Parts: sequence; structure tokens; C-alpha cells
Amino acid sequence: MNDLAPIGGGCRTAPVLKQRGQREVFCGLTGIIWLHRKMQDAFFLVVGSRTCAHLLQSAAGVMIFAEPRFGTAILEEQDLAGMKDAHAELDREVARLLARRPDIRQLFLVGSCPSEVIKIDLARAAERLSQLHAPHVRVLNYSGSGIETTFTEGEDACLASMVPVLKDTTARELLLVGALPDVVEDQMLSLLGQMGIDNIRLLPARRIDGTTAVGPNTVFALTQPFLGETHAALERRGARHIAAPFPFGEEGTTLWLQAVATECGVSADTFAAVTDAPRARARKAIAQASEHLNGKSVFFFPDSQLEIPLARFLTRECGMTAIEVGSPYIHDALHGPDLDLLPANDRWGPQISEGQDVDLQLDRARAARPDLTVCGLGLANPLEAEGLTTKWAIELVFTPVHFYEQAGDLAGLFSRPVRRKSLLKLEAA
Ligand code: SF4
Repeated sequence: MNDLAPIGGGCRTAPVLKQRGQREVFCGLTGIIWLHRKMQDAFFLVVGSRTCAHLLQSAAGVMIFAEPRFGTAILEEQDLAGMKDAHAELDREVARLLARRPDIRQLFLVGSCPSEVIKIDLARAAERLSQLHAPHVRVLNYSGSGIETTFTEGEDACLASMVPVLKDTTARELLLVGALPDVVEDQMLSLLGQMGIDNIRLLPARRIDGTTAVGPNTVFALTQPFLGETHAALERRGARHIAAPFPFGEEGTTLWLQAVATECGVSADTFAAVTDAPRARARKAIAQASEHLNGKSVFFFPDSQLEIPLARFLTRECGMTAIEVGSPYIHDALHGPDLDLLPANDRWGPQISEGQDVDLQLDRARAARPDLTVCGLGLANPLEAEGLTTKWAIELVFTPVHFYEQAGDLAGLFSRPVRRKSLLKLEAA
């Protein structure tokens, strides 16, 4: 238990409401939208249907500024009926792509609902294509299928697929895991660098990187709370996880940095010298941006897997009360430190829930009438029509929100819809 735990205790041991039923989430293909921007020599080839191609095009359309680094190998009816050799076609498509795009150094074959239903063995395809196109191109595979995944699991599956091919090392190194926007990653590296920590590797690296390795002396910290598979894959390679709250808000960032600094032997004086000024800036920015959040209630539907750390941020740093904090999955090793800090709030909650039966959860939200509901796009419009104020969970993944310099923006993302609603009420009065 953390000594910052709230009076009355945190939520790590609180009863969890587990429900399974109809779910309202995007599929794991969505992760390609931010991963292709991060990994500048990678290409994501979705083996899927026209629906998958449309999802990617509409989700990413506004962001394409050059030749895209993702595409869809479309399974036609004949493939689905098993009348064509899908593997031979895939080989031809990949050969054409790689001949046209010599800048591609890593190719991800991304499985979808259709490829899973007809059981195309993409692991075998990746192995065969790796042999054909090595050493210039490394071919890996993972699933982005929506059958049993939520949208951030695409990144988790992608990073987990990279872990087995990382080189072995016995060096004592810090591996930082999770795709962050470059500007945020640079801030994180600068803070750690000022503390004298420089034996750092990144997963994913911006370009294929022969120096990223893993072994029994690797310690790793996650920057995203949805990397359960990657966490397990790294532990299987002998690496040790540095457990910490996630770096959202001033407090989360400080505790995350503190855990890494302690692991790396940084003195308290050095830590304070590096963090005091950005901490003060972050506190000030949060105080300004959270003015409209103070005293308000929030209800999280399970979507991005960021829900638990964000609830911790909103309750402890922005003065909100959490009514329900739903997450698609709860991993004690990943979410425990944030749950420890999330105020259990006497008998009124919050209700921690895992998984979803969307109709039952909608009933709970309607009964609670929260001041702010954080949910997926599909639920936001109907709830707005019923007079609830909503925030799209997906925006929290697409917007830079980690570490000190973004802490005010993070509070602003939540306060804007609340403020807009109060302005509308004033105008209507
Ligand atoms: Fe739809 Fe499945 Fe394709 Fe995602 S992977 S777009 S859920 S068919």
C-alpha cells in the first residue's frame, strides 16, 4: 500500500463488478492509426475485409499527409470460401508492396475478424515472409480482430509480437514501453536524462533498432496502462517490471518518475532539482484547467483501459467524484498502484467494474446522472441526447496527455465539455 493512499483506503481491494454481454468498443485495428506515425519504417498490412479497410480509412483519413504506412489486403468472397490460396496471394501482395516501398523495414501482418474466422495462419505467413525478405525486412504478425478485443489492445498485441525477436542482453538497462507522441517521449527522456539516467531503450523505437534488447538485468516501466500482454512477454524474457501509477497529471508523473529514479539510484536532491519546477507548472496548469471539474461527478464506461489512472487523476487532482470506473480489463500488476490511490470514498463508491454488459451499464449511468460520462463514440451521441455530458474516450488516446507539460491539457480535455454544458444552460436560462 502506498503511503499516499487516501484516508479510508484505496480501491485495490474493492469488490469489482464483472459483467459480460454486449460491448460497444472499437477493434484493435484502431491502434494502427497512432502506431504507424510512431514507427517510421513500419508498414501495417491488415488481412481483412472491406469493412476493415473502411474503418482504417475513415479513422485515419484526416491524418494522412504522405504515402500511408498501412493498407488492407482485402479478403474476397472466394478467399472466404476457401476457393483460393490466400497464402500465395498474400505473398504476391507483400512482394509487390516491398518492391515499391524500399523504406519499409518492418512489416506487420495484422489479423482481423475475417482472417480469424477463416483461420488464416498469419504466424506461419510471417515466418515464411521473414525468410523471404530478410535481412532487409522483418515480418511479424498480431491480431487486431474486434471479436474479443478493445481498441488499445492493438498496440499491446503489436508490441508483444516484437518482444520475442528482441536481442538477448545481460546489460543493466531501462526499457520504456508504450507508444508516446514524439514530443512527449522527448520530454520524458529529457527528465530522465537530467537525473543522469541514460541507459534507456524504447519499445517501440521510432525506427527498427538493433540495440533494443532484453534480458535478466532489464528493468522496464510501462507508459500506457493497456500493455498487459507486453508486460507478460517481457517478464517471460526475464525482465522486471517497475510498478508505479501511470504518468498522468502532476502526481502520477511524479510517482512514475520517482519509481524509475529509485530503481536507478537517483538521489532525492537530484530528483527534486529536476522535477520541482515542472511539478509546480503542472499544478498551476491543472488548477486553472480544472476549475469547472471541482465538485463534479464522473462515470467511466470501459473503453481505452486508461480509465483507472484517469479516475485517479480526476479525483485526486481535479476535485471530482468517481461514480463508476469501468475498464475492459483490470491487471493488478499494472493498475494496482493507481487503484491504491483512488479514494474508496466511503460507502458511495466508486464502483469498479471490469468488462461490460452495455445495457445494464447504461441503466446505471442513467440512474446516477453523472456530470460527465467518459465513453466510446457509439454511446456518446445517445447519452448527449438524453442530457448527459460526455467525453469521447478515444480522444484521450489520440491527444498528448502524459507527463508534466500535458497535465493542464489533460484536465482541459475533461473540463471543456462540462464548461460548454454550463454555458449552454446559462444561455437557455
Ligand atoms: Fe470490423 Fe473486425 Fe475488421 Fe475491426 S477487424 S473493422 S471489428 S471486421
